[in-house]
Amino acid sequence: MTPMDGSRRPPGVETVLALVRPRTGPDLDPAAILTATRETIDDERQRLTDGHEARSAERLADEVLGRLGAWAGAPPDGLVPVINATGVLVHTNLGRTAWPRKAIEAAARAAAEPILLELDRESGKRGARFRAAEENLVALTGAEDALVTNNNAAALALAVGLARRRGVLVSRGELVEIGGGVRIPEIVRRAGARLIEVGTTNRTRAADFEEPLAEGRAAMVLRVHRSNFRQEGFVESPDDATLAGLARRHGVPLVDDLGSGALLDTSQFGLAHEPTPRERLEAGADLVTFSGDKLVGGPQAGLVAGRADLIARLRRDPLARAMRPDKVTLAAVAATLAIYRAGRAALDVPVWRSIATDVASLRIRAGPLVDDLKDLRIDIVETRATVGGGALPGETLPSIALRLTSSSAARLARRLRLGRPSVVARIEDGAVLLDLRSVAESSDEALARAVRLAMESKAA
Ligand SMILES: *Cc1c(COP(=O)(O)O)cnc(C)c1O
Repeated sequence: MTPMDGSRRPPGVETVLALVRPRTGPDLDPAAILTATRETIDDERQRLTDGHEARSAERLADEVLGRLGAWAGAPPDGLVPVINATGVLVHTNLGRTAWPRKAIEAAARAAAEPILLELDRESGKRGARFRAAEENLVALTGAEDALVTNNNAAALALAVGLARRRGVLVSRGELVEIGGGVRIPEIVRRAGARLIEVGTTNRTRAADFEEPLAEGRAAMVLRVHRSNFRQEGFVESPDDATLAGLARRHGVPLVDDLGSGALLDTSQFGLAHEPTPRERLEAGADLVTFSGDKLVGGPQAGLVAGRADLIARLRRDPLARAMRPDKVTLAAVAATLAIYRAGRAALDVPVWRSIATDVASLRIRAGPLVDDLKDLRIDIVETRATVGGGALPGETLPSIALRLTSSSAARLARRLRLGRPSVVARIEDGAVLLDLRSVAESSDEALARAVRLAMESKAA
């Protein structure tokens, strides 16, 4: 047979299995062994079609055992270690933020052991579902009650559902797409409510809400944070208290989707002030919703806080069951929020640590890194990092980056991404920038090794 002969066949399944079985030990699932063997033989068939050298049944058996061993040992594909050197602190494509250490420990405990998820210790009967996260949220926002959902999109959909088939008033300046093609008008419709657009793209006044409210067409006023864009120029929107007063006079709730939600005052770190959930509730919002994994810096979750009667209605909604987080998330949210109550968020929540770091200490970290790599084309530059994740659009923090110069920045960035750890950089003015503000200090050495490998493999 010639190598290009399309009739070449790999060894049969039984032939390879007979060689694999004696080497797996008695405890492995026979169905899994069979599937791995079939996959290996299918791949071999493709290789033969592609004109590759045929492999013996013994080689294929080695391959099957190799695959089984890899699945047993290594973390799954896609879970390669990653260094976020983009300078975007909350990077949605990289899983947003690292969790606080305490949240990771709480999650591991909840995953590994039974927890009192829905058991009342006193009576031994079924109790309220794990309340610690919600109790922390109440304490941090001053709300009457709180609820945790899977994510903020779920929280928003659930909240909008309070309007039933009636109208939800949203300013035309806030009909945003929140990312991944998800749009507020779509969410409102899918939640079974009717969107009533109010005002214009750039200017919406309190009076614009008055008419549909007076006519009784609306059952809710919804405010949506302009997370990922900024309006400047000839713009106007009603202030919190005015809008709240209006909603109250007409007996409809004001729901405020805060997007990221900041439980610390961002202005103390040189950023614009991001309204906190507490401020918005004090200004008259009936419910606020925000994400657990943006500026809160914990696991993916939706955090809802506000009036007890409305939270109770959300909790009773059958869809709440479809949107509820698991025990691992609840434990981690509770642990994350407890850090804020302890006054330690800027110390112990990674995203706030990154925000709070001063440029001088970033510069100090850059020193040994470039010393390590001084034979390569690297220098230290000043740059600007961003918060990302739809928080504080247009706001930046001063930062320090390593600038890598090469004949093709795109190719070098690709080699960095394909390395292990995978380093995700940004390209600016034809150079690769590694922004240290989004890199955990504990990753500096790994970063230096990855950079050397990527830059030297180019030379090779
Ligand atoms: C990010 C964002 C959402 C969605 O939050 P998730 O937690 O990602 O579901 C909703 N609304 C606004 C304004 C946002 O910025």
